[in-house]
Amino acid sequence: QKAEWAKLVDEKTVTANGRHVELAANIGTPGDLQGVTNNGGEGIGLYRTEFLYMGRTELPSEDEQFESYKAVLEGMKGKPVVVRTLDIGGDKELPYLNLPEEMNPFLGFRAIRLCLEQTDLFRTQLRALLRASSYGNLKVMFPMISNLQEFRAAKSLLLEVKEELIAEGTEVSDSIEVGIMVEIPSTAVMADQFAKEVDFFSIGTNDLIQYTMAADRMNERVSYLYQPYNPAILRLIKMVIDASHKEGKWTGMCGEMAGDEIAIPILLGLGLDEFSMSATSILPARTQIKQLSDDKMKALAEHVLTLSTNEEVIEAVKKK
Ligand code: PEP
Ligand code: MG
Repeated sequence: QKAEWAKLVDEKTVTANGRHVELAANIGTPGDLQGVTNNGGEGIGLYRTEFLYMGRTELPSEDEQFESYKAVLEGMKGKPVVVRTLDIGGDKELPYLNLPEEMNPFLGFRAIRLCLEQTDLFRTQLRALLRASSYGNLKVMFPMISNLQEFRAAKSLLLEVKEELIAEGTEVSDSIEVGIMVEIPSTAVMADQFAKEVDFFSIGTNDLIQYTMAADRMNERVSYLYQPYNPAILRLIKMVIDASHKEGKWTGMCGEMAGDEIAIPILLGLGLDEFSMSATSILPARTQIKQLSDDKMKALAEHVLTLSTNEEVIEAVKKK
C-alpha cells in the first residue's frame, strides 16, 4: 500500500470525475516542511503559529517571527500557505503572559480575544507576517472568531499595520487573502454574512464539535458526545460551504475531520474545496478521493443530512 501511495506524491488530487480539490498540510514549525514535501502536500492549510510562542520565557521578537514565516513561505515555493495568528489559551498556556486562571479556559480569554486586547503583541505578529508576505503565497487566518466585529477589528489592525510598513518602505504583497476559522457555532450560523467580508473560511472541527456538542475535547468522560458525524455538525459544515460558494469564496477544513476516511466522502459531496490534515494522512486521502465520484458523494451527503445520529451516518458511509 505504501508503494501505491508513493506514486501519488507529485500528483494533483482529483475525484473520479476529474474535479480538483486541494490537499494541504497542518504544520507547527518550519521543521515540518520536509514532511509536507515528502507526502505531496499541495499547500499549507494551517500553520499553528502558537508553537513559536511556547516553551520559552518571553514573547518571540518580530524578527524571529519574520524568519519563521519567511522560511515556510519560501519553502512552499508559491503554493498557498495559510498562517493562523496566535491561538493561545484553552489547552495552551503562556506562563509569561501572567493571565489569571479561569474556570472554563476553552470558553475564556484565548486566541483573537487576547490578540484584540493585547494589541502590541498582535501588531508584532502582523508586522512579521506582512514583511514575510513578499516571499510566497500568504493567506492570513484569524482563530476563534465568534462575531463580525471581531473579524472587522482584526482586519482593520492588519490594514493599519500594512499602511505603516508601506510608509516605512517595506515591500508587502498586494494579494494576501484574509480569512477566518469557523470553529464557533455562532460563526457557522452567520456564515452568509461573514462570506461577504472574508476571503475564505477554514472549518476547525476540533473546536466546532466541542462547542456544538458542549463536550470538552479533552475530557474522556464525555468523549462519547464528541461526534464528528452528528448531522448537527454536518449541517453546520454545509451552511458554511454553501455560504462561501454563494459569494464566490472558498472553504477549507483544518480540523482532524478533514483527513478522516469516513468524513472525506461526505465532505466531497458537500463541496469542500480544501482539506488540510497531518502530512502523513495526505497520500491515503488522495488515494481515497481518486476513487470517489462527485455525483455519488453528493447524493450520499444529501442523504446523511437527513439522518438522526452519528452512528446512522457512519453506517450509511460504510454501505455506500
Ligand atoms: C480546530 O479547532 O479544528 C483547529 C484546527 O484548531 P486547534 O486544533 O489548534 O484548536
Ligand atoms: Mg481550534
